[in-house]
Amino acid sequence: MYVAVLCELAAKAVDQSFIYHVPNELTDRIKVGIRVKIPFGKRQIEGFVLDITDNILLDKEKVKNIISIIDDEPVLNEEMLILGKYMADNLLCSRVAAYQVMLPKALKAQANTNIKIKYNRYLRRNTSTQEIDNYISKCKYDAQIKILCSLKENDIPIKKMNSSINTILRHNLALIVYEEETRYKYSGKYDYKKVKLTMEQENVSLAIINSLGKANTFLLYGVTGSGKTEIYMDIIEKVLQEDKSAIVLVPEIGLTPQIVGKFISRFGDIISVLHSKLSDSERYDEYRKITLGKSKIAIGTRSAIFSPFSSLGIIIIDEEHTASYKQENNPKYNAKDIAIWRSKYHNCPVLLGSATPSLETMARAANGVYTLLTLTKRAGNSVLPKVEIVDMKREFKKENFILSEILKLKIKDRLAKGEQIILLLNRRGYSSIISCKNCGYVAKCPECDITYTYHKVSNNLKCHYCGTSVPMLYKCPVCGSNDLKDYGLGTEKLEEELKKLYNARIIRMDVDTTTKKGSYQQIIDDFGEYKYDILIGTQMIAKGLDFPRVTLVGVVSLDNSLLIPDFRASENTFQLLSQVAGRAGRSSREGEVVIQTFNPEHYSIKLAERHNYLGFYKEEMRIRKMLKYPPYYYMVLIGISSSDSSLALREADKIVKYLRNNLEHETILLGPAAANIFKVNRTFHYQVIIKYRNDQKLMSCLKFIDKIYQKNNKVNIEIDFNPVRV
Ligand code: ADP
Ligand code: ZN
Ligand code: ZN
Repeated sequence: MYVAVLCELAAKAVDQSFIYHVPNELTDRIKVGIRVKIPFGKRQIEGFVLDITDNILLDKEKVKNIISIIDDEPVLNEEMLILGKYMADNLLCSRVAAYQVMLPKALKAQANTNIKIKYNRYLRRNTSTQEIDNYISKCKYDAQIKILCSLKENDIPIKKMNSSINTILRHNLALIVYEEETRYKYSGKYDYKKVKLTMEQENVSLAIINSLGKANTFLLYGVTGSGKTEIYMDIIEKVLQEDKSAIVLVPEIGLTPQIVGKFISRFGDIISVLHSKLSDSERYDEYRKITLGKSKIAIGTRSAIFSPFSSLGIIIIDEEHTASYKQENNPKYNAKDIAIWRSKYHNCPVLLGSATPSLETMARAANGVYTLLTLTKRAGNSVLPKVEIVDMKREFKKENFILSEILKLKIKDRLAKGEQIILLLNRRGYSSIISCKNCGYVAKCPECDITYTYHKVSNNLKCHYCGTSVPMLYKCPVCGSNDLKDYGLGTEKLEEELKKLYNARIIRMDVDTTTKKGSYQQIIDDFGEYKYDILIGTQMIAKGLDFPRVTLVGVVSLDNSLLIPDFRASENTFQLLSQVAGRAGRSSREGEVVIQTFNPEHYSIKLAERHNYLGFYKEEMRIRKMLKYPPYYYMVLIGISSSDSSLALREADKIVKYLRNNLEHETILLGPAAANIFKVNRTFHYQVIIKYRNDQKLMSCLKFIDKIYQKNNKVNIEIDFNPVRV
């Protein structure tokens, strides 16, 4: 017997399977999808068995034996094996990279994982109560009697063996059993009560329940607080009744605590939680619960989409517009695409939920590719909060550099009333963006409508889509002011300012304060219990949290989001503002939102102020159409990098030339241009953007390029289909 074994050999993963012989004593344990240990050169490595055969073309003398078998049961089931092939074909990644990304670390094909199943040892009775009582009546040892009495009721955990236990075992009254322990313990708080769905919720839920068993994608567009989570749980209840399973994806750790709490209190122990803050051992346990059939619901971040349920009833993707569903390193898959693939495999629906669907998704719903379901009302009695926009240009002139007059007053007011406040700062500022603090002017490429990026070395402004550059600006071309720099406000500085102004209990939530495990949860719990008055955070806090006492949300500096050089900057800003606004006034107390910006007239701010998603959708679609961006055009990004900057640029030029000569005429090529983050660890990054609608030659051209550069050690290329950050 021979096997084809797929293994990961180098960082530039290239698919290679190798033929090995299976010694006779191992043949009956060989299965497709298990891992085996094989000799490779002088090393021993692990690989996946892809194929079993008795006939090979190779010289049988030269084929080596496998060393050992690692798994009793396949780690890759049939569906995963096919899915990996699909990913390799469509993302131009290697099959082995696709398989590795599906598995928790403990099950990847790589030597030296030390992650083991943790067992607990119990003493369990092995005979009738009567026989135990008989024994007790004759027994002279208190220790034994004590054990036997409680053994009648329950299993007893054993830490250490002792003579009493040994005697009990010898008399066959009990035996030792081992049970797997699940190391992850949900530590959050919850007091969830099942609610009665409103008419609107009921209708949405029914529409999906009626289509269980069919591969169909739904978009649930429902304003924040419209009770989408309740609908998810209602549908899952039906799915469980049919003895099928459910996957629920949530954006990132940021969202999980509260939603996980709700799910656990409603569905109990049949849940696997899979997110990035779990340890490898915890993740392994949660994953095993699925393969052993103990879990029926997986709730987690992006990679939970690969949860190996044998019979899926529904896949739910909450906050579907979130960028984190796309993996940014290889394989650059989007969990939404994987969901749709799996829904066809299992014949089950996909439900995409959002208050601010991505333009791509909404456009598909508008075209009827997805089925659109809408929730127009908030579920409780709460109303959407009032949004106020503050022009920071004016505040700057009054020397209010951090907090505007009005925000200061409102904070004071809430503190006096014993209400809570959330203040949001966007992720660290782009110091490389030029905008006028006097009139709001922003330096942008007129062709691409993308903010120029300042390059220090060449001292000019570059468009990192099309590659054009203009000289550095020192004076605003509109008003003549020379106040063009970014003032880069961080969470720490904001905290300092607040401490100066108020006597309040303040907590910060950002990458610095949440790196420790569980600290995120701690902050949420503490804030929820009103141990703090003000929560400061990056966009981490914008989503998903539900604090009834919060009545004021302030967006301290919005412009970092608005000016990011990405064609989705407006969309992301609108989404961010809508999410933030959704945080305030979730209970009967009315909420308010204050947004500080240098661009108060911008349409994404104006429309977010009025909670007008459809208005935003329409306006943004018009612009996308005009500028030929998704969803009107598809996009592929080719990243070209090297430690030699001019070599990278030369190769990028070659690639553009090749593509220009071989792709359809209608296809648009932009670049090469310096990538947004140009220099990282002494490596220089360039990019080429392809915009296309229907290009039959594209895939073969990209495959050709990919192949060439796989062999190139000096230049690395990466191909990203439908990138989320450009
Ligand atoms: P979304 O996910 O759409 O933002 P949630 O599912 O978090 O909304 O619900 C918002 C709030 O409304 C939650 O506190 C939830 O418990 C409550 N809620 C949802 N549905 C109902 C209902 N039918 N009746 C009463 N309260 C509800
Ligand atoms: Zn100006
Ligand atoms: Zn440009």
